[in-house]
Amino acid sequence: MIQLKNISKVFDSEEVESHVLTGLDLSIHQGEYISISGPSGSGKSTLLSILGLLDTPTSGDYYIDGVKVDSLSMHDSAKVRNEKIGFIFQSFNLIDELSVLENVMLPLKYNANWKDKNAIRTQAEECLKKVGLEHRMNHKPNQLSGGQQQRVGIARALVGSPSVLLVDEPTGNLDSKSGDLVLDVLNQLHAEGATICLVTHDPRYADLAHIKYKLSDGILETA
Ligand code: ADP
Ligand code: MG
Repeated sequence: MIQLKNISKVFDSEEVESHVLTGLDLSIHQGEYISISGPSGSGKSTLLSILGLLDTPTSGDYYIDGVKVDSLSMHDSAKVRNEKIGFIFQSFNLIDELSVLENVMLPLKYNANWKDKNAIRTQAEECLKKVGLEHRMNHKPNQLSGGQQQRVGIARALVGSPSVLLVDEPTGNLDSKSGDLVLDVLNQLHAEGATICLVTHDPRYADLAHIKYKLSDGILETA
């Protein structure tokens, strides 16, 4: 379903080239829960950004559901991202001025298939239920704990029924108890059929996945 072939990423700055990913291959099939661990600076976020169509590889091929997506226009790549990808960030990236419910509804407002405001609301409410936050819908993000904010982030990622959830260090800003709760939610979603790619430097969390990879020196290996 998701296929990276011979992906490399080089960042050019001044005269220095940094080769962050080299000749990387990765396949993620529907329903799989995979983790990618590796030390800080090993390229985990770069890899996830490429998977999420937030960045483009320097070379190599990327296919989603058999369609080549590594060299789409900005417009087409935004469309694929909107329809296929749910991204969960370490820093939550919620909008403080909007309610929890409005934050979760937001991605659907940019989706051409969703014109019906009531349908958008119902879908967002369903997703908040899945993460156990239906009773916090009308709160503002800053009225919630960090762990609750991350669960709102998960609900927002779920709302477009993405093909895959890409999760970057979801517990990086959380204490261990809230972190465990967030991972419980991911486990539950996986049990209900979600496809998950989790990036983390925490071996405890990486072990929860069924397929484990390690990234080091730009090379991805089975852990
Ligand atoms: P990780 O998420 O594993 O900590 P990153 O993917 O964030 O690692 O970064 C990997 C390497 O790529 C680091 O050396 C980082 O400095 C470099 N890097 C990341 N993004 C950029 C960028 N936009 N420009 C230049 N170098 C970058
Ligand atoms: Mg990172």
